[in-house]
Amino acid sequence: MSHLGRPSGNGFESAFSLTPAAARLAELLGRPVNLPSADCLDDASRAAVASIGSGEVILLENLRFHADEKKGDVDFAARLARYGDVYCQDAFGAAHRADASMVAVPQAMEGRPRTAGRLLEAELRYLSGAIDSPERPFVAVLGGAKISDKLATIRHLAGRVDTLVVGGAMAFTLLRAMGHDTGRSLVETSMIEEARAIIDAVDATATTLLLPVDFVCASAPAAGVETTVSGPDIESGLMGLDIGPASINAFSAAVRAARTVVWNGPMGLFEIPPFDQGTLAITNAMIEATAAGATSVVGGGDTAAAVNDLGLGAGFTHVSTGGGASLRMLEGGPMPGVDALDLA
Ligand code: ADP
Ligand code: MG
Repeated sequence: MSHLGRPSGNGFESAFSLTPAAARLAELLGRPVNLPSADCLDDASRAAVASIGSGEVILLENLRFHADEKKGDVDFAARLARYGDVYCQDAFGAAHRADASMVAVPQAMEGRPRTAGRLLEAELRYLSGAIDSPERPFVAVLGGAKISDKLATIRHLAGRVDTLVVGGAMAFTLLRAMGHDTGRSLVETSMIEEARAIIDAVDATATTLLLPVDFVCASAPAAGVETTVSGPDIESGLMGLDIGPASINAFSAAVRAARTVVWNGPMGLFEIPPFDQGTLAITNAMIEATAAGATSVVGGGDTAAAVNDLGLGAGFTHVSTGGGASLRMLEGGPMPGVDALDLA
């Protein structure tokens, strides 16, 4: 059983059908995969499960066609729980949510084995293992659009990492809190006070905070615009759209020196060249560190996509498959879908 996308929860929608997944699964397994019905709980699905033979595979249709899945509904879960003898959870990307299939189903299966699949095992090994018992130096690189998304992560990593590197647009709110001019760069003005507090909180630990000292700036976030390098202050008409060359040097050196390095959030507006250079430089520095024996972990939807789009994912120890879930792990926050399992 699985999710796919975000259907409305009012029944079957062909755009979110697992039919293509069934076909691909059949290819990978080298045996037929039966998707018995458009509804995971109707008579056809129940009959298929009841008559399944040894070695046969049934894929239920998208659980999210039922609103009860998102609600974590206990009765819905109890009906799914009747289908199986063993619960094996491999949906890391949903494990930070308390959907029915993630929590209520394993709860309803108490007494039967409830275990992690290989992917979940790897995600936990790298995301919690690397953070809880890192080889040092331990460096975390954070970036992305909004500091409000990453405050809990900064709080959790402060005191745990040796160096906390912050790039991306989120750095501007920190720089503004420190009294710098940020021009027209993205700043979350409502978060400036909070940013000041978080800088003080990091300062109170042994963690070194490494912020950009220069930026690639332009008058607009568009391809082909004229760019200039300036910083840490940015003049009023310009916006910082990527970290600049001096920052790239400092950040890359920190990453290359790491024995454990965790990265979440691009360094700039990487979708639009030339503002992808900072993100590319961090990617290359992490790959170098990995080749030299470091453990490197990338988490975050956009960051993982950036690395994979470059075709460079294989150079890392682990590229997480979960955006929100990997961020939750970096925050040290609750993972209901993991807590529901009987892990040693
Ligand atoms: P992730 O999904 O990896 O956690 P986020 O969603 O937090 O990452 O942030 C990714 C977005 O941040 C990207 O769309 C990127 O273009 C944007 N971004 C990063 N730096 C800048 C910047 N300096 N100016 C504008 N956008 C930026
Ligand atoms: Mg994102």
